Amino acid sequence: MIDSALLSKPYMALRLYNTLSGKIEEFHPLDGNRVRMYACGPTVYDYGHIGNFRTFIAVDLLYRFLRQSGYEVRYVMNITDVDDKIIRNSARDGVSVQQYTAKYIQAFFEDSAILSIEKPKFVRATEHINAMAEFIAKLEKKGYAYRTDDGSYYFRIAKFPAYGKLSKKDFAGMTDGARVDVDEYEKDSARDFALWKAPKPGEASWDTVIGPGRPGWHIECSVMSMEELGPSFDLHAGGEDLIFPHHENEIAQSESLSGQQFARHWFHARFLLVEGQKMSKSLGNFFTIRDLVLRGHKPSSIRWLLTQVPYRNQLNFTFDGLKSAASSVEKLRNFRFRLTSSQFPAGENPAMAQLAADTIARLKSSLEDDLNTAEAQAAIFDMLRKVNTALDAGEVRQADVKPMLEAISKFEEIFGVLNDDDQSKMRGVLEWARAEGRESEISPELLEIAGSPQLTDEKITEKVSEMEAARKSRNFKSSDAIRSELTAAGIIIENTKEGVRWRRR
Ligand code: AMP
Ligand code: ZN
Repeated sequence: MIDSALLSKPYMALRLYNTLSGKIEEFHPLDGNRVRMYACGPTVYDYGHIGNFRTFIAVDLLYRFLRQSGYEVRYVMNITDVDDKIIRNSARDGVSVQQYTAKYIQAFFEDSAILSIEKPKFVRATEHINAMAEFIAKLEKKGYAYRTDDGSYYFRIAKFPAYGKLSKKDFAGMTDGARVDVDEYEKDSARDFALWKAPKPGEASWDTVIGPGRPGWHIECSVMSMEELGPSFDLHAGGEDLIFPHHENEIAQSESLSGQQFARHWFHARFLLVEGQKMSKSLGNFFTIRDLVLRGHKPSSIRWLLTQVPYRNQLNFTFDGLKSAASSVEKLRNFRFRLTSSQFPAGENPAMAQLAADTIARLKSSLEDDLNTAEAQAAIFDMLRKVNTALDAGEVRQADVKPMLEAISKFEEIFGVLNDDDQSKMRGVLEWARAEGRESEISPELLEIAGSPQLTDEKITEKVSEMEAARKSRNFKSSDAIRSELTAAGIIIENTKEGVRWRRR
């Protein structure tokens, strides 16, 4: 809903829900045109799952849309490469923390690329340990942190009365000094939390100004975000599970030290469900990106599905949904191909230029409305339907193509699914599965798509022209041979009113 006060303004600003205020607010950065934002990245103890990537894609869309809106964006994401689970697993496997995490950091970069997620600036926790120790030393000096007999440090939440302001929890009456030393804990637990954990036998630790040990998870994000973006910055993002305790604790640590507001805007993506249930390994509904590609699903379908539902709404991941996502992407790709590959009569049809301009305006207003991705997708599909009808009726002219492609490219700048690089990405997953000895998980569907010869768009266009030339000179043997070759490479050839068209399967 757009209210009339906003409509009367000469421009519209992005309106985003801010967890801190509990309201939708106009988003304006502190420093003119420059946005500084931070997202909590992966904890690299395993492959990322589709829930993680729902959140990362939601932030990716925000990042892309801010830039499309003309902002210069500094976007930092951390990699949590030390936490309770990592320490435990690396000790179990008898390897160093770095050795243990290297594989999953690499996998995270690959999965992000598979899903066409644009790269933020990455920072790693293990590269900032000294800065964390210094931060804790300063907190101790100011009376916000204390050391326990074993050499651990805790944050004294009784000293920070605003504790609970993000998660809207009332912690009045909490027991001063009650402590919790695990990184993740009960939602109603008002306890002094660990900033620094003393070394345990057999576990990794670092020698620092506050003694040996390792950082707690929450301090990592406070230190890295402030180091990269300053004590006060525009936006902090993550999945909704991070609101408490992680983000509440980040606020407490950072604001106690700086005396300034930490992040001004808090952006949280809602948790994803799978077939209506919470995703969990024990329910057998736990999927990594690679699991889905191994079953033969295209990266573009996965990305589409994960963007389909606005970030604050419940996204229910289903295999039916994945199939229909594939068909939506294919419709859009065909639509663009139809526009770029057909011949149109000279001239223009003003209705088409108007439609393109309206679509661009609708894309912008949908995304400005708390990133309403569903509405933006509806806008592009409305245009597709209307233009396809006009195309069938022969009402599209040469000059109409450019504004139409412009609307599509505005859409693509945000959604990133039209460029067809699925096959090479799937081939990468296929090779990974073979190298990891996971052949048994490779589906015939994946083999069919990834295993067919790889032809570039130019090569295909060239072959289609050759095929047409052969057919016109009645050399059917040759034209049939080219057609079979293209089919084997996963290319579908269609004869349409506007001529021969091709697309990838
Ligand atoms: P982690 O690797 O567990 O630190 O999580 C990385 C990001 O994924 C965090 O922002 C989490 O909030 C987010 N996340 C984890 N599970 C889900 C889920 N099921 N749906 C959406 N986001 C999630
Ligand atoms: Zn974090």
